[in-house]
Order: sequence, then C-alpha cells, then structure tokens
Amino acid sequence: MSIALFTLGGTIAMAGGSNRLTGADLTDAVPGLVELGRPVEVQDIAAVPSSNLTVATMLDVVDAASKAISNGATGIVVTQGTDTLEETAFLVDQVWPHSNPFVLTGAMRNPTLAGPDGPANLLAAARVACSPAARDLGALVVFSDQIHAARWVRKTHSTSTAAFASPNAGPIGQVVEGQVRILARPDRQDGVPGRAEPAELEATKVALYTVTLDDDGLLLEGLADTHQGLVVAGFGVGHVPAALAPVLGALAERIPVVLTSRTGSGSVLRSTYSSVGSESDLLQRGLIDGGFLDPYKARVLLRLLLATGEGLDEITGAFAQHH
Ligand code: ASP
Repeated sequence: MSIALFTLGGTIAMAGGSNRLTGADLTDAVPGLVELGRPVEVQDIAAVPSSNLTVATMLDVVDAASKAISNGATGIVVTQGTDTLEETAFLVDQVWPHSNPFVLTGAMRNPTLAGPDGPANLLAAARVACSPAARDLGALVVFSDQIHAARWVRKTHSTSTAAFASPNAGPIGQVVEGQVRILARPDRQDGVPGRAEPAELEATKVALYTVTLDDDGLLLEGLADTHQGLVVAGFGVGHVPAALAPVLGALAERIPVVLTSRTGSGSVLRSTYSSVGSESDLLQRGLIDGGFLDPYKARVLLRLLLATGEGLDEITGAFAQHH
C-alpha cells in the first residue's frame, strides 16, 4: 500500500541557483511522512519550470501512474510548478481511469525561503493520496490543507501561499489535524475517450483568444487555416464587440469555437442578452457554450477532444458537462 510520487520540478524543488531537489530530497524534508506508514515510491520525471510542461509529458506521467496503480500503489502524488497546475490537473482528470486518488501539489515559497510551504503541501497531498475518502474524485489539487476538484481549481494569486482556490464551488475538502475530510463529492464526469497520440497532439493547434476593449480582431484573421479549434475568452457572460461576431461566426463554420468568460469565475450565459456580439447571438452563430469552464481548461479539453478525433457533437456534449 504505497504512494507513488512523481516529481516534475517547480518552486517546490528549487534549492538555490540551478540546484534542484529530487523526490527523495523532498520526502526527506517532510516531518510526519514516515509516520503515515506508507512507503513513498519516487520517480523523478523532470526538473523544469511548469511553463515548460507539455500535454504529452503529462500523458506520459498518467501512463506511469497507471502502471504504479497496477503494481499496488494506493494513490498518486505529483509535485510540479504552480503556474500550470490548474491546467495539468484538469488534463489528468480527463484521462485518469482509476478510482485511486491522483493528487497534484507544489509550493509558492521555495525551500531556501523562510516558511517554505512545500513540505506541508506534500504531506497533505500524501494523506489525501492514501485516503479511502478521496477515492472516486478524479484528479485533486491539494494546497494549504485544502482539497480542490481539478475541474474548478484556479491559481488566483501570483505569490500568496493561499494561491489556489475554487471560485465557483469552494474546496471540496480539507485536511484537518491530519485527517482527510471530504465536504462535497462531485460526480465524476465522462473523460475524454481514447488516448491522444503524440503526433496527433502535435498536429492539433487550438488557439485561445482573449477579447479586449476596442478589440480589432486582427489576430483572428486566417486562424482557421492554421488551427483546428479556438477558445474565446469573452467579456463577462460571454460577449464580444459587434464587429467580431461575424468573424467568430465564420470561424465556427470551419472549426469548433468555444465561448468562455474572461472574468475568472461564473458561467457564460445562454439567453439573457440578444445584441450582436452577445452570448445568445454568438451561440446562434455556432459557438459552443463553455459553461463554467475557464478559458485555460477549455483549451485543454478542446485540444484533447480534437486530438482523439472527436466530432462537433461529441465536443459540444463534452462541454455540456460543464454547464
Ligand atoms: N514558476 C514556477 C513554476 O510554475 C512557480 C511555482 O512553481 O510555483 O514552475
């Protein structure tokens, strides 16, 4: 009944200069980990800033984690940089086929600073990874003793140790006095069927376009010639300037275009406003309702779906799970 720990780098492993801590160094620095009574089997995969992680790397980690589960591991912990953690966690959630917890964590303060948060986060993550209460919840992010569902978690602060939050739903659990307390059990959603192969992933280009004040839409020109999908981060409930509405409508006739909100929380609407460039106008022009999904996770999902060969109906259905 071991825990499989995969390390990918990030602030949690920064030991000053170009020195990087290994998984063994990380676990050695955690008081209380041995007392958990679960051996931690470490695999050091990468030592990179999380800005350098790729979808292909994360799918390889999922494969290695699956193998660890087949070999008897109770749960998985991944340590990585925090910058892309909300995206990697969501990606894992889409493809993780097991009931066993898959927990991702990191740190905001590196080990050379006063009050590094890595050891506490790693200990809490290990507790969640081996907790029966955390089974069947998919991928989880554990940070500052809070347990977040991958589909809702956001990095909401650039430096605070309380950087992770789930603005739409709150954390689904907490680690209290070393006990894992699950407060809400969201149903697992259908993940992405099939496995995206590296060549397909490489060939699947999905753009993210954030709409801004007085937007000229210039970057959208010719986009369907170079990309297979587009996520639009619209104003508020999913609005764009009127001049962009026909441009997006024309793109939606050629590639899937998903409508999300750039606000950071809340859902896009469907039928409240009707002016040109409003949410209902854009949906009528063929854009896909991204619901509560933030633009970054929407891009991960659309790329995975396209890379596995899913068509428009399946893509629309996958996003409908987030309404
Ligand atoms: N820039 C770092 C990274 O994402 C930040 C961190 O780990 O917290 O790799």
